[in-house]
Amino acid sequence: MSGSPAVLMRLVASAHTVAEKAGAIVRKVLQSGELGIVEKTGANDLQTLADRLAQQSICASLSRRFPKITIIGEEDLPAEEIKEDLIESGFSEEILQKTCPEEYSGLKEEELVVWVDPLDGTKEYTEGLLDNVTVLIGIAYGGRAIAGVINQPFYNYELGTGAALGRTMWGMPGLGAFGFQLREVPGDRRIVTTTRSHSNKLVTDCVDAMEPHEVVRVGGAGNKIIQLVEGKASAYVFASPGCKKWDTCAPEAILHAVGGKLTDMHGNAYCYDANVKHMNSAGVLATLRNHEYYVSRVPQSVLQALKSE
Ligand code: AMP
Ligand code: MG
Ligand code: MG
Repeated sequence: MSGSPAVLMRLVASAHTVAEKAGAIVRKVLQSGELGIVEKTGANDLQTLADRLAQQSICASLSRRFPKITIIGEEDLPAEEIKEDLIESGFSEEILQKTCPEEYSGLKEEELVVWVDPLDGTKEYTEGLLDNVTVLIGIAYGGRAIAGVINQPFYNYELGTGAALGRTMWGMPGLGAFGFQLREVPGDRRIVTTTRSHSNKLVTDCVDAMEPHEVVRVGGAGNKIIQLVEGKASAYVFASPGCKKWDTCAPEAILHAVGGKLTDMHGNAYCYDANVKHMNSAGVLATLRNHEYYVSRVPQSVLQALKSE
């Protein structure tokens, strides 16, 4: 490697350690037993102390290192002094050693947009479905998701005390995906993963239209992408508004890095520019393989109800 690493590689290397720190915060708040739950739009849209602290930690840490990037976090928090112990200033050495794909090597800080979901799967977090929880940091350039980091704070928790908790996955189309072993659902079995807590008739009609052999209902957008890349599901189908850009940016980048695809229900890509609306109004359809099959099965009723942006 010659010269100093590209800005994008430094940002991803920082986001990797920042996501680990956020994961540690999410575990610590759970251990404290004081979740500080607040309802945002209703009982299925929650925020906890862990969401608040993790977002403060991620956003303050990244903006201190990269003052010119645009960072958009899920939680609406009052501007306040961030405690020093929430700041993470490390870089993943392993990522700094990698060579940036040529097309991104000249990117400048001010051209990058970072989408942050400090805790994805908050409802599941409050219910103890801990492996559904992820921390999502997605990086976009020119409207496209070009890098993503997913920390899963409670990975291994079912092994009981003593097991090292948590892992971090990351990926960049053109470079690869790391921190997990890519697996595919065997043969042409169709296993559809979808929401467990935000369902409605459109969502279930659309899942049925895929003619799945099996349906896996789990929480979290990040967690559902993990199901896809680890061979537990073949398609993530959510025919409803509700997911936001911070839910899909990091997962999309990792999925693209392994040859998968994430679109709305029409098969159209979402844009991750700083000025886009946050809601993914036309639903989420993500696959590792055979995206066209799933797009072709989406019912007319869904296409009419959910317009592309
Ligand atoms: P789910 O698949 O239901 O776990 O949702 C994935 C992500 O989208 C989570 O961050 C949810 O909070 C969010 N989400 C999906 N539907 C809704 C909704 N109706 N209201 C609020 N958030 C939603
Ligand atoms: Mg989320
Ligand atoms: Mg969240």
